[in-house]
Amino acid sequence: MNKGLPKNKNCLFCRIVRGEIPSQKVLENKELLAFKDINPQAPIHVIIIPKKHLDSLSGAEEKEIALLGRIQLAIPEIAEKLLGKNSDYRVVTNCGEEAGQSVFHLHYHFLAGRRFTWPPG
Ligand code: 5GP
Ligand code: ZN
Repeated sequence: MNKGLPKNKNCLFCRIVRGEIPSQKVLENKELLAFKDINPQAPIHVIIIPKKHLDSLSGAEEKEIALLGRIQLAIPEIAEKLLGKNSDYRVVTNCGEEAGQSVFHLHYHFLAGRRFTWPPG
C-alpha cells in the first residue's frame, strides 16, 4: 500500500524538518537543523540532524563528506551560541538499537550544563 511513497515519509525527524511536528529550533540552514530534545538528559540537550534523511552514521558514504563536515562545524557554533566561548559539552551519536538509537534518522546529541561521567551507560 505504501509503495511509491518516499522511504522517509513517516520518519519523525523528517517530519520535524518539514514542519509537520513542531520543534524548538536552535540553528537552521539549508542543510541542517538543530532543535531542543523533547526529553532532555541534561540542562542543555539539542538534537542536530542533516535535513537529508540518512538512517545513521553507519552506511554514510563519501558523497556525504561535505554535509557531515558541516554538521561537525555546526557543533562549536551551537556551543558558542548557547554557552559562550570556552564551554564544555558532549556530543553523542547512537548507531543502531543496541547503542541506544530509537529514531533512525542520523542525529547527534549535544549535551551540556552538567558534569558527565565516563564510561557512558
Ligand atoms: P536516539 O535514542 O535515537 O539516540 O535519540 C532520539 C532522541 O529524539 C531522544 O533523545 C528523544 O528524546 C528525542 N525525540 C523523540 N521524539 C521527539 C520529538 O517529537 N521532538 C523532539 N524535539 N525530540 C524528540
Ligand atoms: Zn528522516
